[in-house]
Amino acid sequence: MPRIISLGEALIDLFAGKGVPLRELKPLQPSPGGAPANVAVALARLGVDVGFIGKVGDDDYGTFLIDLLAGEGVDVTHFTADPRAPTMLAVVAAPSPTEQHFAIYHGTDTLLSPEELDQAYIQSARCLVFGSVTLADASGPAALHAARWAREAGQHVIFDVNLRPALWPDLQVARSRIGEGLASSTVVKLNEVELEFLTGTADPAAGSQALLQQGVQLCCVSLGADGAYFNNGAASGHVPAFHVEAVDTTGSGDAFVAGLAFGLSKQDQPIAQLSSADLHQMLRFANACGALAATSLGAMTALPALKDVEHLLQPDAGT
Ligand code: ADP
Repeated sequence: MPRIISLGEALIDLFAGKGVPLRELKPLQPSPGGAPANVAVALARLGVDVGFIGKVGDDDYGTFLIDLLAGEGVDVTHFTADPRAPTMLAVVAAPSPTEQHFAIYHGTDTLLSPEELDQAYIQSARCLVFGSVTLADASGPAALHAARWAREAGQHVIFDVNLRPALWPDLQVARSRIGEGLASSTVVKLNEVELEFLTGTADPAAGSQALLQQGVQLCCVSLGADGAYFNNGAASGHVPAFHVEAVDTTGSGDAFVAGLAFGLSKQDQPIAQLSSADLHQMLRFANACGALAATSLGAMTALPALKDVEHLLQPDAGT
């Protein structure tokens, strides 16, 4: 049985070259993706026993994704092909280095239902990871159900806010559904833009305090090349990033979430009792995962192996 389970979408990103808007895309480059699937692969590369719960279509892309995750060592016994719809696609354009535009084509990602979930499988793990893309579609109730079971079993439940405004009918709905995700979780990971969207402030100290008041036990704000900030109510602080030659930060957030899940799944203490030193160490590891994912192109392809993370964590490497 896996130690950590990641639940949500697995999809094919169709990437165009950089510097063009969506409508001018030339050849599209298929690439495996979906934040929860990336997190599962990241954890497998860190040597963790990890399972993925999700759905693809009974099509070539679906077979490709299942085989790929299995080949990485992810447990795919609950990652299934459903013939009722095709595999989800996301066409991704990056018209400028700071902008990403998406055209999303839903498929089987919307078909995960609470009735299909395996309670014993979910409750056998130590940690569950899910994100808001799942909450934006009809699989949302399944994700919240899984989170409830995981919490009942005393697990860490990590919610990756991962806001994609294009997926929501309107941002008010997004805010309220993401609020349900927060209420079902013990840990939240978000960036400054998402923090401001949810709390009205991009200031990590004030924003994280507001989220703790909503019931999460640990708030981690990722700050790109500035590292990350943590707050568990008893301890808070900033953990600097590692200096790397950043080529493409796609996948850094997912690698960071995996690093966080890696650290938390080894902790037996309640989150509120984790010291500043414990949390620093955990986020330093997560920062190393995120930094390494930024050093090569792509999302899943760029996720680091444990030995590379350990190398970066040596006192004489990075910062
Ligand atoms: P998201 O993609 O979710 O917005 P971030 O861009 O904040 O996430 O990246 C997640 C983590 O990856 C950061 O907290 C940091 O540790 C690491 N990271 C991202 N970009 C860089 C970078 N340019 N240099 C070093 N580390 C980085």
